[in-house]
Parts: sequence; C-alpha cells; structure tokens
Amino acid sequence: MGRFSILVGDITQSDAEAIVNAANESLLGGSGVDGAIHRAAGPELLAECRTLHGCPTGQAKLTKGYQLKARYVLHTPGPVWQGGEHDEAALLASCYRSCLQLAEENGIQSVDFPCISTGVFGYPAAQAASVSLRAIMDFLRDHDTPQQVRVVCHTEEAAKVLRQMYNFWFAGTKADRL
Ligand code: ADP
Repeated sequence: MGRFSILVGDITQSDAEAIVNAANESLLGGSGVDGAIHRAAGPELLAECRTLHGCPTGQAKLTKGYQLKARYVLHTPGPVWQGGEHDEAALLASCYRSCLQLAEENGIQSVDFPCISTGVFGYPAAQAASVSLRAIMDFLRDHDTPQQVRVVCHTEEAAKVLRQMYNFWFAGTKADRL
C-alpha cells in the first residue's frame, strides 16, 4: 500500500499516532468533529488547549490525545468559506501543510485528517478535496515523515468525491507510488 489512503469512518476511533482536529481559533472546542474529538478525549484535552491561547487560521498546534487511541491531536482552524475570494484555498492548504510539518518535527509517523472546513465552515466538498489532496501529496513528495497519511471521511459521499479526484489527478502518477 502507498503512503496515502482515503477511508470512511469516525476519526475519534482512529489508531493513527496523531489525528487532526478541524478546530476554531479559540481551540476551546466546538461542534462537529471538534466536539466529537473533545468528548472522546475527555476533559484533559480542553485543559491542555486552554494553555495554548488559541491558534490562527491555517496554522496548527499539538496536544496529547488523552483518552483517544491516537497519542496526539494536531489542532488546526480551517478557513470559513466566504465565496472563495478571501484566501480560503491558501489557508486550507496551509492547514494541511502545517499539520504535516508539526508531525514531522515531532517524529509522528501516521496522521489521520478529517475533511477540514467542509462542515459548519461551509467549504464546498469538491474544492476542498482538490486543495487537500494537492497539499498532502506535495508534502509527501518532499518529506519522508510522516510515513502514513489518511483522510478519514465521515460519509461515503465525501470519500467518493476525494477518491474520484485522487484517481483523476494522482492514480498511476509518481505521487501514487510514494
Ligand atoms: P469545520 O468547522 O472545519 O467545517 P466540521 O466538524 O463542521 O468542521 O466538519 C468538518 C468535516 O468533519 C465534515 O466533513 C464532517 O462531516 C466531518 N466530521 C464530523 N464528525 C466527524 C467524525 N467523527 N469523524 C470524521 N469526520 C467527521
């Protein structure tokens, strides 16, 4: 198997070394995947997040995973979709890159991402898929760590969009054989 894969599931059950939280700038929890991760990790996660004093959109911060199977959580606030002309694509790409960079700096070998910004933040799924795939594949091409990256989609529809895009742009290419 290659270094990259797309699956359907609940990221709070992930057995990756680190999972990514589609957070907001406060890092103090929220709805969607953020709420689910905080519920599954337990109150110690919120306590550690309080010490971080937030995080700007497009950047990332690392905490422990507490009650999660994942040892770490990479928290990254995605951009709120505002029509596409407010730097959304650059900020979303930066979320993926920042998480992967932080993983590399900490020697984390496997990372699971949710589809950042595609829920409450309203980023259209196909456009987000294209940005996320490009950012992840570019990073994997240039770095040996992390060894394994997965996107864990909450729904089959979301996975389908990503898989179609992946097959169109990357299947059979050098990136596919990373
Ligand atoms: P954002 O505010 O960044 O849009 P959301 O949590 O609202 O964050 O949604 C981001 C994505 O995470 C959506 O595609 C949503 O379907 C997905 N999601 C929600 N809960 C989970 C979960 N438990 N595991 C994986 N993905 C999830």
